[in-house]
Amino acid sequence: MKSPILAFLQDLHARYAPLTEGKVADYIPELSKANPNWFGICIATRDGQLYEVGDTRQRFTIQSISKALSYGLALEDRGEDHVLSRIGVEPSGEAFNAISLKPGSGTPFNPMINAGAIATCGQVLPKDGESRIQRIAAYLSRCAGETLEVDEEVYRSESETGHRNRAIGWMLRNFGIVDEDPHDILETYFQQCSLKVTCADLAVMAATLANQGINPTTGERAIAQEYVDNVLGVMATCGMYDWSGEWIYRVGLPAKSGVGGGIMAVLPGQLGIGVFSPPLDAQGNSVRGIKVCMDLARELALHLFNPSASPQPALRLGYNASQVVSRRRLPPAASQAVRRYGERIRVLELQGPLIFSTFEPVVRTLVRQAAYCQQVVLNFKHVVSADPVSLRLLSQIRTQLAASGVTLFCCHVGRFNRALLSNGFDEKAIFADTDSALEACENSLLGEVLGQDWRLPEPVPLPGCLLFRECNQDDLKALDQHMDERTYATGSIIIERGSQADQLFVLTAGSVEICLPTEGNRKRQRLDVLSASMSFGEMAFIEEAPRSADVVALEPVTCRILSRGALAVLETQCPGLTTKLLTQLVRQLSSRLRIANNEVSALRG
Ligand code: GLN
Repeated sequence: MKSPILAFLQDLHARYAPLTEGKVADYIPELSKANPNWFGICIATRDGQLYEVGDTRQRFTIQSISKALSYGLALEDRGEDHVLSRIGVEPSGEAFNAISLKPGSGTPFNPMINAGAIATCGQVLPKDGESRIQRIAAYLSRCAGETLEVDEEVYRSESETGHRNRAIGWMLRNFGIVDEDPHDILETYFQQCSLKVTCADLAVMAATLANQGINPTTGERAIAQEYVDNVLGVMATCGMYDWSGEWIYRVGLPAKSGVGGGIMAVLPGQLGIGVFSPPLDAQGNSVRGIKVCMDLARELALHLFNPSASPQPALRLGYNASQVVSRRRLPPAASQAVRRYGERIRVLELQGPLIFSTFEPVVRTLVRQAAYCQQVVLNFKHVVSADPVSLRLLSQIRTQLAASGVTLFCCHVGRFNRALLSNGFDEKAIFADTDSALEACENSLLGEVLGQDWRLPEPVPLPGCLLFRECNQDDLKALDQHMDERTYATGSIIIERGSQADQLFVLTAGSVEICLPTEGNRKRQRLDVLSASMSFGEMAFIEEAPRSADVVALEPVTCRILSRGALAVLETQCPGLTTKLLTQLVRQLSSRLRIANNEVSALRG
């Protein structure tokens, strides 16, 4: 099935293919051989998907588009301060080949005009046995994810006729912007401009810039992250020659064009665009390229300064322990205490990228919660990235909360583990999942409000078991005689899902997990954890249906077991016993349903 995105690009292509305005560059004789009908459009997404229409695989020379990327390499080689001392970043308003320097400083206005680009070539260092052009070609190749080669004819043609650029080279030498005979630098510049690319390459290069310097098709880092904003900055202000102001006003994307007919445009963080069509306007920009980018920006709402969406706040959901508790079923008194004081435990589920604007609502919530919370759990399961700013804020708020007696925990931290540890979180404050974090929080809350001995002493005698609450002495005596006792080692499966059920289990010592197998049996999903005094296996027992889940011993376990046959015998001895047991079971099930309803309503937000 054809993607509507591709259909849209095909429409766009058809819209401007008939346009005959503009003139193929001929001041470099070899460029005049380009076919004016060549026309390609390509969008590359940040995850490496390409949408291509028209002549997206036709090779042509990159020309001035190379200037943006070699500026990145110069910054990596020399650092920002040094490069800025030689080449400015002000739009010049002059033609790309102007023979001019900034009055006062004597530096080229910016790296996107020829003077600045030639100076930029001089900043690139021959290194590790590689010449300047080899390093530039390798750098641009990493950005494109393809090996780029010099078009020797275009290079020769440009070198033979590039008298104006030579004049600029010598002017730079005169003003001390380049420190050596400019010959080698000029040849490097001509070769760099003669690197062969395709429209698809331009889109991938743009997507690499959009993707913080990592080429989305190869996964390789091509541009140091710290200079991506510098490169995009000069593209935004100076990338379209003396039409740069109009361009950023109308299209709103950092871009760079070349006299070969290419344009590369970047929507930072999102996508890259490549357009190729050789006929140029008076400024040297591709006529069709500009039309296509204007329509793309308008019709796909890409203008940088009118973002159609802002990132979602990082706060996905918040609840407290009186609404949602751990999977562990607590004895009635403890369960009541958690419901009553549960507001002191708060869980915040985070999502998306953590950057200043998305994380600010989380900070706001934490500041507000500090007054009535004691423990806060941050769930990172749906967090996709965390920038240094959000991590710093998190670390600061953690320290401040600790000072006012509130402990901050994290769970589901995955690949953020290291970042959290190096931002002040203790390993003990990091839990695998919400459940284990909640359990720990509940333990400390219960210790505080009920004292350390809120757990029942084991083994729990039959009268202490919840199921037998309605029973009198005679009932209990009879039950004791008719119920087998069985012990299980840690990890053993007490009940298997799907098996036939005619027994009800009463746990007198140890704890068990009720769980479902997930992900092709590799993991278990925990439904419940039960401890001594509780019973299990009652659902299938009542429904006379197969077991709905597995029950596994979490530690050495002792159970008393009531079979359906034994209950029938007991009923003749103690009339009404079945009713008593069923009444109690219904109570337990309905209180569990109440908890589940509470939880569902909190989690639906
Ligand atoms: N190599 C070309 C020149 O210096 C590049 C110009 C351009 O693409 N604007 O003239």
